[in-house]
Amino acid sequence: MVNWEWSAMTWPELEAKMKETRLVVVPVGSVEQHGHHLGVGADWMQSWEMSRRVGEKTGYPVLPILPYGVSSHHKEFPGVITLSFHTYQKVVEEILGCLAANGVKRVVFINGHGGNNGAIAEAAKEARDKHGILCAITTWWDALGERKVLGHPAEQHAGYAETSFTIVSRPDAVRMNKARLTATKQTDEDIQLVRAGLAKFKGGLVRIPLSTIDVSDTGSMTEAHPDDFRGTTDYSRVTPEFAEGLMDEVVAWLCDFVKEFEGFQDPKRELKRP
Ligand SMILES: [Zn+2]
Repeated sequence: MVNWEWSAMTWPELEAKMKETRLVVVPVGSVEQHGHHLGVGADWMQSWEMSRRVGEKTGYPVLPILPYGVSSHHKEFPGVITLSFHTYQKVVEEILGCLAANGVKRVVFINGHGGNNGAIAEAAKEARDKHGILCAITTWWDALGERKVLGHPAEQHAGYAETSFTIVSRPDAVRMNKARLTATKQTDEDIQLVRAGLAKFKGGLVRIPLSTIDVSDTGSMTEAHPDDFRGTTDYSRVTPEFAEGLMDEVVAWLCDFVKEFEGFQDPKRELKRP
């Protein structure tokens, strides 16, 4: 009998479960293009698989996946389904409100899409003020940190890491023969575009909100200058064994974090005003 999947439990089972723990895992993703080789649901499929494994290993309740995200910077590509920032924030706020009614005090988001972070953070602040719920937003690229994946930064859109996670999560949504990691297009000598929203200038970073289509024809991105990764865009190194190892690493980190966060004290302080 499943004792971690919110959707598969009856209400009396959930009532009992929420007496054992005040922490819930909320998986979220997006429906957006991921190059020529990953299905448009790559983000939510990866996030669900990670969350499913965390639920199985730890027993914490895992909500159903929220598949849609904030993906307006991808919207020029066919197949993209995006919510506006405000709508998404509202949806997350209302989910957190329902969790509050179930006595939840700690929420760990397992987020597969960077574009969601801002809206989740806004909703989380609201939930803390209104309901005393403390949220943590985790992503696999933040979990991997500075760690390089086959020599590349982990975060690359439809890059080696994401391709690995999709292979593990939904192998039928991967077309490895179509995989092509594409260098970010450049238009200026000094301002180096990293990806759709980010550029480098004289050792510093600048945010320049563009669309993905402006900087990549395939939709996958090395997120770097072509010279930085010349000749190293070879997906054949992403084997199922490599993919499973990377997934295990991230899931182990997530399990450790979730367990630790259950007892994390909210450092909330009120300033005394005269
Ligand atoms: Zn993705």
